[in-house]
Amino acid sequence: MPPHHRAGFHEYLARVKREGRAEGLGTVLASDGTRRVWHFHSSIRREGVAEPVVRSIVTDVTDARARERLLADRETRLRHAQKIEAVGKLAGGIAHDFNNILTVIAGHLALATDESQLMPAQARADLEEVTRAVGQATRLTRRLLGFSRKQLLAPRVVDVNALITELEPMLARVLDERIAFAAHPSPTPARINIDPSVLESALVNLAVNARDAMPDGGTLTVDTVVRGRMVTIVVRDSGTGMDPETLARAGEPFFTTKGAGVGTGLGLAMIYGSVEQSGGSIRMESTPGAGTVVHLLFPVATGDSDAETPTEEHRAARRSTPPPPSVRPVSVLVVEDEDPLRRLVERILVREGYHVTPARHGADALHIVSALDDPIELLITDLVMPELGGREVTEALRATNPSLPVLYISGYDPDPVGLDVGDQANTAFLAKPFTGSALLEHVRRLAPPRRDAAR
Ligand code: ADP
Ligand code: MG
Repeated sequence: MPPHHRAGFHEYLARVKREGRAEGLGTVLASDGTRRVWHFHSSIRREGVAEPVVRSIVTDVTDARARERLLADRETRLRHAQKIEAVGKLAGGIAHDFNNILTVIAGHLALATDESQLMPAQARADLEEVTRAVGQATRLTRRLLGFSRKQLLAPRVVDVNALITELEPMLARVLDERIAFAAHPSPTPARINIDPSVLESALVNLAVNARDAMPDGGTLTVDTVVRGRMVTIVVRDSGTGMDPETLARAGEPFFTTKGAGVGTGLGLAMIYGSVEQSGGSIRMESTPGAGTVVHLLFPVATGDSDAETPTEEHRAARRSTPPPPSVRPVSVLVVEDEDPLRRLVERILVREGYHVTPARHGADALHIVSALDDPIELLITDLVMPELGGREVTEALRATNPSLPVLYISGYDPDPVGLDVGDQANTAFLAKPFTGSALLEHVRRLAPPRRDAAR
């Protein structure tokens, strides 16, 4: 019997003597040093013996208990996965609606930025600030979508140290002055394969939690540790900490100890979802009154760090040049049920010299086309619309115009709606929110401007 279990065993024997019988679990050490769990069923025997003896029937339940624990563990994980899935659907729905709004905001911003040479310097600076904020919001909705559908994550090799340095200004904005922040990068590069937006929002969310846990100030540190094949990001705060019950539930979707309107209870759940989708894992430790430590663990990436991909798409939009005047305008049909979004697409295309016919929904589109004299040369359509969806519109128009190029725009992934755009040269898919330059890029490829002698 292991030494610290002996006192408990003596108590058990005393109970057998007192009550005549008892049962319970005990830990014993096997001769090879392994621990076994025994179930004791004991009774006292007085007849026919000089002195009372304790007789025990013992069953080794070590393996049965291990199996049980494994099952319970699996069940817990399954329940967790189901919750995450439900929240994913919710988040995806919100992100979808938000994407529409963001597309409109970003699009008009790009248009306004184009004209900003005429504005006072301060107004131009304000515009730039808004553009940055919209960029952040766009990344956030991408993340929300990534939470519900992993296809939208775009992992690449990133150096965690560099990413954290980049994030510092944003983290500083989240924290208040009474919180001392320090990042301790690893001495060697910490390269992992991840969509940077996953790490970004994980760290911002953790910083917000840390701030909320330190109402009177404190310290927040973010350490990067490379050990063996693992990169660990250690986020440590000196806040209120969590008791074991809170800690156990903290990662559950909608679990929050913050008041209504303050906490959503989604922060940690989203971090769990996206980090695990990215091949990482999370460990949390917390002591009430002493603070919380969150470990984000990722396997080291093999291969080289990517060159910074250009993110400033607005600049590209500004560089776009209208087609030469000798080119006949391409005729584009734009089907979109969201008025502001349709107007935006129309405005972007008209500015570039396209001839645009707008339609408010699928039936409207078919009606308009039947009344047109000249054929449509490109169809841009929302994918999901009430009644007649984008695919139905395409089908109807291609019945008379089989080679009609189609650009689908949607806040949903092509996969969940069973749209395979990969293998058709004259079909493309553009995810919302999109930028003007991305839209024009697709439009130019699908419907290149043609010189038309007949006109
Ligand atoms: P929310 O912040 O909206 O409440 P989260 O999922 O981010 O949702 O966190 C869930 C809960 O976990 C919080 O309400 C809080 O009780 C606890 N928690 C999370 N992070 C910390 C922390 N750093 N210190 C103390 N408690 C925390
Ligand atoms: Mg939170």
